[in-house]
Amino acid sequence: MNERNRVQGDYFDTVNVIDACASSELLEEAMEQCRAYHRLLSKSEKASDIWRINHAEGRPVPVSEHTMRILKAGCEIYEASKGAFNMTVGAVTSLWNFKAEKPVLPAPEKIRRALTLMDAGKIRLEGDCVTIPAGMQVDVGGIAKGYIADRVAEFLRERGVTNGLLNFGGNVITIGTKPEGGPWMIGLQKPDGVTGRDFWAAFPSMDETAVTSGTYERGFTLDGVRYHHLLDPRTGWPVQNEVEMVTLIGKSSLLADGVSTACFVLGPEEGIPLAGRFDMKVIYRLKDGRVLLSREVELTLVKDS
Ligand code: ADP
Ligand code: MG
Repeated sequence: MNERNRVQGDYFDTVNVIDACASSELLEEAMEQCRAYHRLLSKSEKASDIWRINHAEGRPVPVSEHTMRILKAGCEIYEASKGAFNMTVGAVTSLWNFKAEKPVLPAPEKIRRALTLMDAGKIRLEGDCVTIPAGMQVDVGGIAKGYIADRVAEFLRERGVTNGLLNFGGNVITIGTKPEGGPWMIGLQKPDGVTGRDFWAAFPSMDETAVTSGTYERGFTLDGVRYHHLLDPRTGWPVQNEVEMVTLIGKSSLLADGVSTACFVLGPEEGIPLAGRFDMKVIYRLKDGRVLLSREVELTLVKDS
C-alpha cells in the first residue's frame, strides 16, 4: 500500500483537500485537474464555458462535455425542486459581494430587475450547444464542485487508489476505508467553530459523498441580519428560514451538491422528501438547535455543541 499523503489547493473560492494513500505526485496531478475545471466553469474567468454562455447575447455556445453534464443535472434538480435550485441566479449573484471588506446591500430595484432575468426553464441544451436569453446569467457555484469532486475521485480510483478522502469546501467523497481499516468519519462543522476542528456531530462513510450547505460559510452580518450566499430564487435575497445547515449523503456528489442547495432553500418539510426522491440521506440542523434526520443516518452527536 502507498504511503498516506495530503495536498491542498485554493480553487472555486474555497480550500480543497485530498488525503489519500497515494504518491504526492499523483495527488498533485489530481489537484491540477481542479485548476482546469476552475478555468472551465468559473463565472468570472474570461473564456470559461460559463463566461461564454453568459456573454453570447442569446446565441448558441458549444461547450465541453463537463459543462453539459453539470447543466443537465442542474436542470433536473431545478424541475424536481420546483425552482428552489436555479442556476440562472447569476444576474442576482453578480449584485452580491459576500467577501467585501465593507459589505453593502444591493439596491432593491437592481435585484427586482435581475429577477426578471432568471428562468432556468429557458436554458436550451441541444447536442453540445447551450443557449440562454440575452442578459440571463448562469452560475454553477451551487453544483460544480460536486461534479469536480466526482471526476477527481474517479481519476484516483482509476489510478488504483483504494483509500482516500476528498474535501472540496464541504463536498466530501470517501474512497474505501481509512488506511488502518474501518470507515472514514465525517465531522459536521460547528457554525461558529474553527474550520476543520470543531464539530457538532460525525457519521461514518465509505465510498459515498456528503455535501453540506450552510449560512456560516460565506456571508456577512449587517445590523444584526445575516446575509449569506444561498439565495431565494423568488426574492433574490439570502434565504431567511429556520435552516442553519443541511448535509446530503449519497453516491453522486454532483447531484448531492445541487440537492443540498435546494434542500437549504426549501427547508426540511419539502427538503426531506426531495432527498428521498434522489435516493439520498439528509441531516438538517436548524437555527434553534433541533436536528432532523432521514431515518438511515448513523449520526453521533459531539457533546457540548
Ligand atoms: P458552497 O459549497 O460554495 O457554499 P453551495 O452548494 O452551498 O456552495 O451553493 C452556493 C452557491 O450556489 C452560491 O455561491 C451561488 O453561486 C449559487 N446559488 C445561490 N443560491 C442558489 C440557488 N437558489 N440555486 C442555485 N444556485 C444558487
Ligand atoms: Mg450545492
